[in-house]
Amino acid sequence: MKTKQVRELATNRIKAGYPAIEELDFASRLSKEDKDGDLLRLIGHNEEFLGLGYLGKENRSVGWMLTDQEETIDQYFFQKLFMDAKAKRGSLYADEGTNAFRIFNGAGDGLGGLTIDYYNDYYVISLYNQGIYRFLDAIQQALFDVFKEAKGIYEKKNVAGKPTQSRLIHGEEAPEPHLVRENGIRYATYLNDGWMTGIFLDQRHVRAAMMNQYAVGKRLLNLFSYTGAFSVAGAMGGATQTVNIDLANRSKELTAEQFEVNGLNPDDHEIRVIDTASYLDYAKKHALEFGVIVIDPPTFARSKAGTWRIEEDYPQVIADSLAVLETGGTLIASTNAWMLSADEFYDLILAGFKQAGVDGEVIETYGLPEDFPTNRQYIESQYLKVFVLRKLN
Ligand code: SAH
Repeated sequence: MKTKQVRELATNRIKAGYPAIEELDFASRLSKEDKDGDLLRLIGHNEEFLGLGYLGKENRSVGWMLTDQEETIDQYFFQKLFMDAKAKRGSLYADEGTNAFRIFNGAGDGLGGLTIDYYNDYYVISLYNQGIYRFLDAIQQALFDVFKEAKGIYEKKNVAGKPTQSRLIHGEEAPEPHLVRENGIRYATYLNDGWMTGIFLDQRHVRAAMMNQYAVGKRLLNLFSYTGAFSVAGAMGGATQTVNIDLANRSKELTAEQFEVNGLNPDDHEIRVIDTASYLDYAKKHALEFGVIVIDPPTFARSKAGTWRIEEDYPQVIADSLAVLETGGTLIASTNAWMLSADEFYDLILAGFKQAGVDGEVIETYGLPEDFPTNRQYIESQYLKVFVLRKLN
């Protein structure tokens, strides 16, 4: 194992529990000899032992801390991490209405570069850099030891700048669609289809609130709807109708399927393949009105309709949505942009209200759920921010 010294600032950060290792942290620059997957013994600027880490280049870091102890990084090391992660999620394991959730969340569970999701009898292991592959066999062994036996395990490689690669590494392929349950609602998922599986597990609490509170007896407009997960939750909770807007062709079939697997008739709902701005324009011209609008866009997207950039486009979509939201109606604005703080995102929302000349009040906020714990030193990992507002006039 190589020993590497880090500078004073990095020494302090690592001592405080910061999980990521950055390129400039090292006292002498990394060279060609240093490769992704290398195990490092890190010492501070006074040569004190800091812990062990591994090299694995990602967008914002070159590696992650593994431990602050001198210990062997083997199957038993991962077993311990997984047992701790399992203990934190006791209520989810006991919840009969939910069998899809995150069982290991990167640095928040003690190891950056790795997440593991459970989808009813299947696991999806996502690896975010090349270095972590060194541990994949040990991780898989530890997974079997700590968690329930799986029918199958998929591995997804999510490295910067490349499309996600997905492959089965154990057991049998999942059915397509593979049905999972969340708060008693069924969702159709596709585990071997790139990065997106059909449901974003981090919005569980927002979907629950949609079902139990916001959508009851209301018309729901779902912008950037993807597979319509928010709409299905709303419809199961008693929304009178949902309108689903996404410009990807695939969203039409996938959304219809989400309704069908819950015994709902997709023909009772609108599923439109159209750009959000064009739809809002149309809705305004036709004086449509909704009781609830959910806006959950990507951080960045390029399409024929142009480029969607959160900082520039969020205020506009808020303002346009307010034009078709009834007074007293509920606006749910969500983002997964890690680079925006909750305050900065709230400012974008307020800019939209201002532009529309409308007053609003925040009635609820959501962040990541308990199965997506984050490292307190590493606030960038708290990427999900959701504001629920009421339109006052
Ligand atoms: N809200 C969804 C997840 C959205 S993922 C959920 O809860 O599951 C982002 C989606 O935005 C993708 O499906 C993408 O096709 C869609 N999208 C991107 N740009 C768009 C635009 N300009 N108008 C409508 N949809 C868009």
